[in-house]
Amino acid sequence: LYKAKQTGRNNFQFYQDPSSDLTDKVMVQDLEKAIINNELFLVYQPKYNLATKELNSVEALIRWQHPTRGLISPLEFIHLAEDNNLIIPITMWVLEKVCIQLKDWCVKGYKKVPISVNISAKHLEKGTLVEDVKKIINSTNTNPECLMLEITESVMISNPSLAIETIHELKELGMKIAIDDFGTGFSSLSYLLKLPVDILKLDKSFIGELSDRKNMSFVDAIVKLAHNLDLSVVAEGIETEQQHQILNQYGCDFGQGYFYSKPLISNQLVKSFLENDELMKFIK
Ligand code: C2E
Ligand code: MG
Ligand code: MG
Ligand code: MG
Repeated sequence: LYKAKQTGRNNFQFYQDPSSDLTDKVMVQDLEKAIINNELFLVYQPKYNLATKELNSVEALIRWQHPTRGLISPLEFIHLAEDNNLIIPITMWVLEKVCIQLKDWCVKGYKKVPISVNISAKHLEKGTLVEDVKKIINSTNTNPECLMLEITESVMISNPSLAIETIHELKELGMKIAIDDFGTGFSSLSYLLKLPVDILKLDKSFIGELSDRKNMSFVDAIVKLAHNLDLSVVAEGIETEQQHQILNQYGCDFGQGYFYSKPLISNQLVKSFLENDELMKFIK
């Protein structure tokens, strides 16, 4: 594929890969079978409380082990799922896996670690999100307080009243809601006053350029604003000690990134973190 294609669908493409439509079609056909063929799996990335250094929760991130193409990133297939009526079945699969995982960790006696799940704005726009989530929670008998949902701010652009109502209903079920990739969605900041969310996830693009003075003051101001609105803040994409120190100094609540841990398969997460209480704090 040409480079423009690889940088993601939100970027301008100045030329079109002549084979990309065909590739997409084949990928969609493969994706339709991926669930049944057991090709999807989840990895979990820790989020830490920056002040206490304790593990706070983990984010479930989907991976696709394609039989011939190898490991495929969600950046390459989630948009295809969204455009081809596959995002709801995939999200249901993720939610169910996560609920089963929560139960398994609970049965084994590990300390309670909530899991966050990424929800596509397209799913919310379909209007079935609340009933779909309820279905999984009920069939797996899951405590909704162990679930967090991450939704990007783009939901506020297409249908703000539906977004507000849906998030209200999800919160009533007992789940925490995070705004994902905050600061990249080109929507008005004032939506924060209307959306009953709990957490802001600062996009990693701001963290990556934290050494820049303007970026630092932006992040500092967003943390203050969020706290004044009673929201907590997660910084994603923390890769260095220096970024960690700056965010901690700004009072950012939680951090996620390669500095603490890469996303891990369940077994690794258990061995490296959950099996032993002392490993619940990060030491660096
Ligand atoms: P996201 O929800 O913002 O997830 C964070 C992404 O940042 C993940 O990429 C994670 O692996 C990556 N990351 C974590 N720490 C670092 C770091 O220190 N440096 C850098 N450069 N990256 C870091 P991933 O797993 O490739 O997922 C990409 C996006 O795909 C996610 O962004 C999310 O929007 C979407 N996605 C992933 N899993 C799902 C899913 O189950 N459902 C849906 N609808 N979307 C998903
Ligand atoms: Mg996310
Ligand atoms: Mg994010
Ligand atoms: Mg992001």
